Amino acid sequence: MSLPKDIARIQACISNSLDHDSIGNKQITGVIGDTPSTYSKSPALWNGAFRALRLGIAYLPFDVHESRLPTLARALRESDRVMGVSVTVPYKTKIMEHLDELDAKAKQIKAVNTIVRTGDGRLVGYNTDGKGLLESILRTQPGQARPFMETLSGIDVLLIGAGGAARSVAFYLAEALKKGGLIICNRTPRSAFSLAEQIKEAFGNARAIEEDEIGRWAPKAGLILNCSTKGQGGIRKTTDGKIMILEPYSALAPANPVALEESEPEFHRNWLRASLADIEANNRASWNLALSIPRETGFCDLIYHPEETVFLRHGRLSGHRSLNGKGMLIAQAADALFDKICREHLHKAGLDNPSTYQRVLETMYQSW
Ligand code: NAP
Repeated sequence: MSLPKDIARIQACISNSLDHDSIGNKQITGVIGDTPSTYSKSPALWNGAFRALRLGIAYLPFDVHESRLPTLARALRESDRVMGVSVTVPYKTKIMEHLDELDAKAKQIKAVNTIVRTGDGRLVGYNTDGKGLLESILRTQPGQARPFMETLSGIDVLLIGAGGAARSVAFYLAEALKKGGLIICNRTPRSAFSLAEQIKEAFGNARAIEEDEIGRWAPKAGLILNCSTKGQGGIRKTTDGKIMILEPYSALAPANPVALEESEPEFHRNWLRASLADIEANNRASWNLALSIPRETGFCDLIYHPEETVFLRHGRLSGHRSLNGKGMLIAQAADALFDKICREHLHKAGLDNPSTYQRVLETMYQSW
């Protein structure tokens, strides 16, 4: 069966095949990334919620090469059944120049994770990653008896990392801390100092520290938040095309793993032999620091693969509460569905109420 024209235009921009049968006459949302069709949890979460609410909407992965981003943006703009899309790595910044409008937070953060297509076909960018984190920390999540923290007001937060996710979290968090402050620590100090300057300008409450100062600042924080990739599962590529692993590392101490060529035979064994001394030094420093941090301090990681990172394990085994990034990913998706991409649709269907939001959240947890 030939594809309808608007779907064919989208299909021409992407490398994965769209399943026309599952689209039918439905309205469309989805996720733009390099290869979301191979790993993203978002289609399962969103489609689970659409089924539960009996909405005729399909959520599709769009694997797109960077060179096709402008044509894909045009195809999304031109199709009346497109409601909006999520954006994931590596396009959260690159997509911005192809949009018609950015909301204030996305402009501050300089990245977009959600795009709404308005009724007149304009694409408007938002960034709600940091909002998802706040929701997952402060609101009781399905399966929990109470929220991870009752309030963030007045506490100091140690934020590790200064990449895209850290930027979104920092701008939302700094606002919620009120009189508390944000202490930003990153492997590359320049990014931490630059982010702290921008936060200071907007909210007045951030400072940056060097990696070797973390032992002095971590015990003073009410919450320690890992927004770096230290502890992330899977094989990671370095900028020079080599590969390495960050999973055995804790975010509380430096990580300098050896990077090997992709063609390295027996990569895992050779990588571990070469990086073992560095992993041991990182873990020892992390255990000692975790023990020196007051028990009341919360340990929170944006990573959800693995479920418990080394940082979270060290936190839990030294008596701290710990939380991974699953709740953040779900809260961010629930908010993007309820408050952004499907907002108009839910309003017309009389479903724009708190019980619908709760239903979306619960079905997304069930669909994980
Ligand atoms: P990113 O922009 O690539 O930033 C990576 C960060 O990790 C940078 O601060 C980088 O420091 C740091 N880093 C990388 N390798 C390091 C090493 N060997 N030692 C110390 N620091 C290192 O990535 P991102 O988009 O911000 O994502 C960060 C993490 O958050 C990822 O694991 C991602 O999966 C997770 N995340 C989760 C959610 C959720 O909803 N739960 C949402 C977004 C992201 P440099 O500046 O020195 O390179």
